[in-house]
Amino acid sequence: MVRDNPTASLVNLASGQSFALTGGTVIHDDGSQSISDILVGANGRIIAVEPLLDTTSCGACVDIAGMLVSPGFLDAHQHLDKTGVLRFTPNPSGTLQGAREAFAKYARTAGPDDIHKRATRTIGRCLSRGTTAIRSHINVDKDAGFHGIETLASIRDNAKDRITLQLVAFMTPHPGQDFEWLGKNIDGAVALADAVGGTPAVSEDPPRYLDTLFSAAVKAGKPVDLHLDEHLNAGVHLLDAALDRVERFGMQGRTVFSHVSVLSALPRPDFQRIAERILALDVGVVTLPAANLYLQGRDYEMLPPRGLTRVAELHRAGITIATASDNIQDPFVPTGSGDMLEIARWTLLAGHLRGDELAAAHRMITMAPARLMGLGKNYGLRAGARADFVVTDCIDTDTLVAGGPDRAFVFSKGRLVSDTATTLTRVEESRMTEDA
Ligand SMILES: [Zn+2]
Repeated sequence: MVRDNPTASLVNLASGQSFALTGGTVIHDDGSQSISDILVGANGRIIAVEPLLDTTSCGACVDIAGMLVSPGFLDAHQHLDKTGVLRFTPNPSGTLQGAREAFAKYARTAGPDDIHKRATRTIGRCLSRGTTAIRSHINVDKDAGFHGIETLASIRDNAKDRITLQLVAFMTPHPGQDFEWLGKNIDGAVALADAVGGTPAVSEDPPRYLDTLFSAAVKAGKPVDLHLDEHLNAGVHLLDAALDRVERFGMQGRTVFSHVSVLSALPRPDFQRIAERILALDVGVVTLPAANLYLQGRDYEMLPPRGLTRVAELHRAGITIATASDNIQDPFVPTGSGDMLEIARWTLLAGHLRGDELAAAHRMITMAPARLMGLGKNYGLRAGARADFVVTDCIDTDTLVAGGPDRAFVFSKGRLVSDTATTLTRVEESRMTEDA
């Protein structure tokens, strides 16, 4: 059989038709890989993933033998209201508190148009790099008001066929926190969002603040996603206080702790006790290596710490741990391209995973965040799921994470949304000889 050029055929797939991709290497939910065909319906959902499917009824059929298909990458923690404000928010200290103050000042004047422009630009870049779903925390407080959450809610609803967005009502406590304002506004913010969030460590009354967040979540039937203990001061952590509320409010399996940097600062027996509670209460963890490497440990005279939580130990203990971008080009993290493979690499390196755990890093940007975001049967390379996937020229999961593809095609809801290629320009041998 003469094989068509698979990459040319992928580019020419008409949107809105059923199609089959045959003979590719597919990464399954459990991390195993096999050569399978993928059948996608005109409604943008996967009909079947099996070897040697009957593809005669398909609108198009592309042979992708030799290529790897990964489920779309998931970014379980971003800040789309803050993205792209770096140049307007100087943070000379480089610290977390400095970044908070710089953004709070900016947020007072950031209107919906500004937020819309910056957020959509970052979403586009993420999508082009294979991210098909993002969970974003959006500040709702006296400085930001409702501009961010309202703007992002409208982007989420309008872009749902292109990318899955989840919003966390990030009820940020600011100096002199006004519990009255929080009490009056939290339900309205949560109604626009998909989850409830906040930063207990910054609150003047963490127990009361935690109770307010968990109560609002239970009332709205939505999950909780906290910025928890993004610091390295072992003496003041709120892990037990937060875990107590998971238990008391019945939020097992519906709560995420983001950051938990302080776990790295705790003595091992204390860490182990808390890790057992996290596992028993089915709480998910999200590590944010870019932010923690950048923000934490700036006050150390010598040997500054990495600032991340105990990534490798949490993973090996069986706790669901995802990794994510956090901030992209703002005072919290001045860099970032929305490339989850880059984040996976940083997680492996800074989190002290091993060379034989590249697949674990892949899981942290696919199946683990899918579980924490509650995507359920909508996600993965399986019948019934939304057809969100990335077709690359890598040979397996390890090479995908280690070095990334030279050619990648991103499909969202069964439509090609990005096609990128790195090409090496050949230099004539004779010319090289001349130059030498
Ligand atoms: Zn964050």
